Amino acid sequence: MLTALNKNKTEFIRDIEKVAGSENILFNYDELYVYSTDSTNMTNPKELAQAVIFARDVNQVSRIMKYAYENNIPVVARSAGTNLCGACLPKNGGIILDFSKMNRIIEINKDNLLCKVEPGVVIEDLQRAVESYNLFYPPDPSNLKVSMIGGSIGLSSGGPHTFKYGSTKDFIIDLEIVLADGTITHTGCDCSKNVTGYNLTQLFVGSEGTLGIITQAVIRLIPKPEARRVMLVYFDSLEDTSKTVNDIISNLITPSVIDLMDKNTLQTIESFYPSGLLTDKASALLIEIDGFKSALDEQYDKIIEICKKNNSAYIQIAKTKEEEERIWVSRRSSFGATAKLAPNVVTEDVVVPRKNIVALVNGIRNICDKYELKTCIMGHIGDGNIHPNIALDLRNPKERQNFLNAKEELFNLAIGLNGTLSGEHGIGCEKSKFINKALDSNSLKIMKQIKKLLDPKNILNPNKIFQENE
Ligand SMILES: Cc1cc2nc3c(=O)[nH]c(=O)nc-3n(C[C@H](O)[C@H](O)[C@H](O)COP(=O)(O)OP(=O)(O)OC[C@H]3O[C@@H](n4cnc5c(N)ncnc54)[C@H](O)[C@@H]3O)c2cc1C
Repeated sequence: MLTALNKNKTEFIRDIEKVAGSENILFNYDELYVYSTDSTNMTNPKELAQAVIFARDVNQVSRIMKYAYENNIPVVARSAGTNLCGACLPKNGGIILDFSKMNRIIEINKDNLLCKVEPGVVIEDLQRAVESYNLFYPPDPSNLKVSMIGGSIGLSSGGPHTFKYGSTKDFIIDLEIVLADGTITHTGCDCSKNVTGYNLTQLFVGSEGTLGIITQAVIRLIPKPEARRVMLVYFDSLEDTSKTVNDIISNLITPSVIDLMDKNTLQTIESFYPSGLLTDKASALLIEIDGFKSALDEQYDKIIEICKKNNSAYIQIAKTKEEEERIWVSRRSSFGATAKLAPNVVTEDVVVPRKNIVALVNGIRNICDKYELKTCIMGHIGDGNIHPNIALDLRNPKERQNFLNAKEELFNLAIGLNGTLSGEHGIGCEKSKFINKALDSNSLKIMKQIKKLLDPKNILNPNKIFQENE
């Protein structure tokens, strides 16, 4: 195992202060513990980093990587550390390279519809900043108030607006990358069209810090939609809910959002953050449409007609900005509300072709019932991407084992329905054990060769995506 402790600790501290600047480094146990966590419940006190370094600029990051490369020290890039798959846990110790202080929006270019940012920019701050130019950056993981651009590129995060606009990968056109040995490179350019050579930009997006360190990104923007409408439509059956989604799409309407909340989710949100959700219905669809004001009426009327035809039980329409905001706040509270049900909450992220969504949701329910797990099911039904939020006490060995069994069955279920392990949260170390099941063996081989080429000493976020020694 690679570890910074291969070096004498005093020597390591002295070296790293010289390379990174002593004011940018944390070494205390408590601080190391805090920075060795993420939003999973998987921190192992025996697997802490030996130093946290705050990245300041590309040249400093390059010096740090060069030092780490020469001394075989693992480096784990971290933005806000909120991922849900153990993607920035320092499994092999080493350095946590934290990007929260590299948080400048360098440029917003309205003519070229792009912006240039550092990895530590908080997603909501970027959205607000570009909105003041009447521009829009759609990727919106539900924790966008804290999660950062670097981490969302690391995972290719999505969110509700992915259905119409795509996820992070669809908006990144150039990355400044520091490679494992400290070399600095750019993967693309400032043009939104570019087929010059292989698409290295996309190789790094979603690579979870295992291939290189992102120090700057050029992001494509789109004009801000003029207007939007938000509604919550309740149903008494999952089948009607799913049919409504398919009918809306087959009527050539592409809502900007079409998200599902099941009964448990509605009840759990309402009991902790009351906001007027109905709690006696089987499910609800949060539907948002956006575009030119003049085009919305027709879409809106058609959606209402389709919902009614599919036996919608009740339709709540937001009439003011405040009502829209209330619906959005309650939707985004689903994780926080589930977290109040038990000491721990684990969120999975399976995805299937949309036609298999009913089988997936019913299958998840059966698995969770079988293992007596309290589960709130929600997610981006338009994308076939479902998040079971499972509330449990991981300190209880029986519950823990039940969860592990359920997780394996859940992945088998999704794969059996032509789906895969993750739509937007990534693999990290939480799902790495299962990646063989989900990938073609030749593709897996190529991926491992790419990893070896770009990170021959395996110092970049080791033990993520693939398990070591496989
Ligand atoms: C309450 C809650 C709701 C969420 N909702 C959604 C959702 O709706 N949709 C969705 O897609 N996700 C969601 N997520 C997960 C989401 O993907 C992440 O929380 C977020 O996008 C990651 O950002 P972060 O800054 O916390 O990244 P981190 O957790 O810090 O990092 C994520 C990965 O990127 C790598 N990384 C970080 N910075 C760099 C860098 N500079 N260079 C190279 N690699 C880097 C890390 O090593 C790690 O592998 C949610 C999480 C929570 C806790």
